[in-house]
Amino acid sequence: MTDRPFHSSHAETLAVSLGRPPREPDAPFNEPVHLASTFVAGGEREYGRYGNPSWAAFETVLGALEGGTCVSFASGIAAISAVLDLVPHGGTVIAPRHSYTGTIAQLRDREAAGRLRALLVDVTDTAAVAEACGDADLLWFESPTNPALEVADIPALVAAARAHGTMVAIDNTFATPLLQQPLALGADLAVHSATKYLAGHSDVLMGAVVAADASVAEQISGRRALSGAVPAPLESYLALRGLRTLPVRLERAQANARELARRLDGHPALEEVRYPGFGAIVSLVVRGGAEGADAFIDRVQLWIHATSLGGVESTLERRRRWPSEAPTIPEGLVRLSVGLEHVDDLADDLLAALG
Ligand SMILES: *Cc1c(COP(=O)(O)O)cnc(C)c1O
Repeated sequence: MTDRPFHSSHAETLAVSLGRPPREPDAPFNEPVHLASTFVAGGEREYGRYGNPSWAAFETVLGALEGGTCVSFASGIAAISAVLDLVPHGGTVIAPRHSYTGTIAQLRDREAAGRLRALLVDVTDTAAVAEACGDADLLWFESPTNPALEVADIPALVAAARAHGTMVAIDNTFATPLLQQPLALGADLAVHSATKYLAGHSDVLMGAVVAADASVAEQISGRRALSGAVPAPLESYLALRGLRTLPVRLERAQANARELARRLDGHPALEEVRYPGFGAIVSLVVRGGAEGADAFIDRVQLWIHATSLGGVESTLERRRRWPSEAPTIPEGLVRLSVGLEHVDDLADDLLAALG
């Protein structure tokens, strides 16, 4: 019996049906965890740093969801590092001033070593970013940004970059391919911290780059082999297991986030409720600065005080507790990662803690 390929463009179907072993009698439904450092010679993999069927299954599914060729990594930051390695020596990278702090740290580190020049911009200032593309090698951005939740005009920025031959990479961690597909919008690369929504259960560190062009994907997988930042087989298995349910998880989390943003809007203890209209991250600016925000966090019972995001559990964090967070982020900004609990319980806990 052979596979009967069924063609679909629906994310729900792709997430569930792809990346499975061939349908043969007694075959398992899921690609097993292939614990292997080496493979019998004569094939394409040869050694565990060059390939593993457990990664390949995850890459098949994420590649299909993003519409490109996926290369998975040991973490999101390893994926980001591999993309920045594509920038020629002395090249210029444009990135939002409110990028993920680890991205800024990578740019700063490379800049200090004389590797590249980083130009940090307000990603909502479309005209300024478009103009800066003139002499840039890479336009890197996130949309929405973390944790300011600014949304970029992606088609306009991609068009400006294209006009100048500037490569475009979009960190799609917050939106996921279900809410935004960078490659379909004209970007060259979509980058992920699979640690967050894709894996979704706060138990895995993993990352990925999805390239529109297969030869660029090959270059990136070459970087992965050189750096050794390969994903582990067990993590790959868990991340794919998470990815199977991403559509239903995200639907619930987004509905909860939307409803919480609505219920919290105008609360007297809050200066601001930021919600970009999609996704499951809400940022609150609590009155009373750092002190007011910390007191609020101390009082919640259901929500977990923790960094990171995108798990089934609802978590919250005052971002400026990290010295590396951008000084333009308000001291009292608390980022909510809305999970899958009942929305009334999530709201009750927050409202009680706000007093
Ligand atoms: C967490 C995160 C990263 C880094 O990913 P890790 O898996 O933690 O290495 C990159 N970008 C964004 C937007 C993130 O939230």
